Amino acid sequence: MVANAAIKFNEVHDEEFEKNFKENLLEKEISDFSKEFQNQPKKGSCPCCESKNLETEFSCLGFDHSRCQDCDTLFIDPCPPEDRIIDFLNNSKAFALWREMPEHVKKSRMKMYHERLAQVKSIIAEHSPKKENLRVLEIGSGNGEMAELMCEDDLFSEIHMIEPQELNLKHDKINLFRGSFAEFKKPGAVDVVISYEVLEHLVEPEDYFKLAQESLAPGGIFIFTTPNGDSLEIKVLQQKSPTVPFDHIRLYTPKALRNFMERFSFETLELKTPGKFDVDIILRNGSKGPFAKEITLFEDFLNQNEEFKQSLQKFLVEKQQSSHMVCVAKKK
Ligand SMILES: [Zn+2]
Repeated sequence: MVANAAIKFNEVHDEEFEKNFKENLLEKEISDFSKEFQNQPKKGSCPCCESKNLETEFSCLGFDHSRCQDCDTLFIDPCPPEDRIIDFLNNSKAFALWREMPEHVKKSRMKMYHERLAQVKSIIAEHSPKKENLRVLEIGSGNGEMAELMCEDDLFSEIHMIEPQELNLKHDKINLFRGSFAEFKKPGAVDVVISYEVLEHLVEPEDYFKLAQESLAPGGIFIFTTPNGDSLEIKVLQQKSPTVPFDHIRLYTPKALRNFMERFSFETLELKTPGKFDVDIILRNGSKGPFAKEITLFEDFLNQNEEFKQSLQKFLVEKQQSSHMVCVAKKK
């Protein structure tokens, strides 16, 4: 098992590659794209709890972000429709660069996938009624990194994947479906559904939770991650937070996920924000945000107190204020 504490920010994030991707390409593309939607009417209700008690928190690259005052979800409103988002992603030069990332960047990101696999296996060991020959559904598979790792592991017998992009994965265990959640023909009940960093990209979340619920065998385990809109990092950096910009269109919170789990008949087993990099992210981006002066003063203090820096990160995790959120639930 990969030791959790051993991974450092720089080991999974290539700063030069990510800076070029975000600042030189993506931000300009998003600013151009957002012009089309600025005068559209707002949805005016929360995508999680449907509350109309909302406040506009800030604007990021031309998109207004509203905060639900009941479940704290932060979301783009007005939001482009799903088909326009898909067009944007397919035509984006920035995302093309992301998909064709250099080998050394791919290699450094593999640590993250090994860590995810270790996490999935430990959750299965603790919570899954079935412990061998597991059938898995992965919703949103990126470049297929996780699926390929699972193929090499005897614990898993079948890997079903739903992913909009074409992937060239050749393995007997893999069954890839390209299309919408509604069109997906379920392969019969699976034991585990996993989904990393997908929910924040979806305009309407209902079909996603329905798919997970209907695909699982009774007692089956649903593991998903999504950024936490209620994190210190977002509150401090606001529109300069790397977690905020499009196409992260909905940033849910622990409260919002509990609401979803209840509504879609899941029992929540674990709901955590086990992030490791919030303090690093605040310090790296602080000079661009609304509290630049305060963060510079704080940075000097933190740099002289490594122990305090670590305990601050620990505090954020304990208080569910980290921007990385993991939910583990069981089908009722
Ligand atoms: Zn809400």
